[in-house]
Amino acid sequence: MIKLKESVEKLQAYFVNDVPYRVKLDANEGSNYLLKDGFKIDSFKPNLYPDSDSKVLREKMARYYGCSPENIMVGNGSSELINTVINAFCEKGQKVMSFVPSFSMYQTYCDLCGAEYVGLETERDFSQNIDKLIAEGRKQNTKIIILCNPNNPTGYVTPREDVVKLLDSINNSLIILDEAYADFSEISVIDLIDKYENLIVMRTLSKAFGLAGLRVGAMIANEKTVKYIWKVKIPYNINILSQHAAEQALDNIDKVKEYTKRVKELRQELRESLKELNFKVYPSGGNFLFVKSPIENLFEKLMARGVLIREFKFDTVYNRITVGTEEENKILIEEIRELM
Ligand SMILES: *Cc1c(COP(=O)(O)O)cnc(C)c1O
Repeated sequence: MIKLKESVEKLQAYFVNDVPYRVKLDANEGSNYLLKDGFKIDSFKPNLYPDSDSKVLREKMARYYGCSPENIMVGNGSSELINTVINAFCEKGQKVMSFVPSFSMYQTYCDLCGAEYVGLETERDFSQNIDKLIAEGRKQNTKIIILCNPNNPTGYVTPREDVVKLLDSINNSLIILDEAYADFSEISVIDLIDKYENLIVMRTLSKAFGLAGLRVGAMIANEKTVKYIWKVKIPYNINILSQHAAEQALDNIDKVKEYTKRVKELRQELRESLKELNFKVYPSGGNFLFVKSPIENLFEKLMARGVLIREFKFDTVYNRITVGTEEENKILIEEIRELM
């Protein structure tokens, strides 16, 4: 075999577990509610390249996110944008810091480009000590600090005052706020992009919009920063189908607001049901719950019954359960009851 370059030779390939299921609560995907009847295209011209700058899409996103189109760069999912930014800013060996546990992709993207990923342990209750992050970020001369808010997989919400403290304290590192789940909490710092030149906010249509299959995400920062990073944007990265579909979805912001409100109610109901069944349920600002189960090997046992959730092994075993529809949550609870 022709050898891969040294920095990636040691990596493990990422495979997604593909098993049959009845209920899928393992990937925080939303419901199919925005484009369930498909979408319309006025002029379908697959012979032409798509608009490389996603102009219409950025205009519609700007309305939802409360910024202007010049503040937005669109990506093939926010994952692509996170990868692009890490790759563009980090020389080999430079440090990227985030709390652990957090989104495992940060480490993956660091590995891919040779940056050094530094994981800072959360407290035992999975809360995140911002003073610790500020101190370590400074001490270790970190190039990028990533704060996932609300955090995946723990659900922890960093209070706005802590995020502001971080932004006020660190101005020589890039600060990425991964707000993939911010639609389900009330906290976003998009309104601060003009105040902090080193702030980049990542958003996605994969969760609250229920459009993970389209692969559309947004990087939001002040105009100067966006222009600067545009150098490394992959040309034509959003295909025409995804652009059209996402544009149409963004014409239905009322439905998104309704949906996220409903998910928050269902999250509360699911929390109570799980607590009644003696689960430890952590506070969550996302469309998922992070739990400790009284049943051993819950992940495998539910999988055998066609219900998919996620398992994490830290100091002990935890599970992350996506808040499903009322019907899906009911099936989950019934299956858990039977396991008891
Ligand atoms: C789902 C998720 C993303 C992004 O997903 P895309 O589908 O690539 O937009 C980013 N960060 C976190 C923490 C996520 O959970």
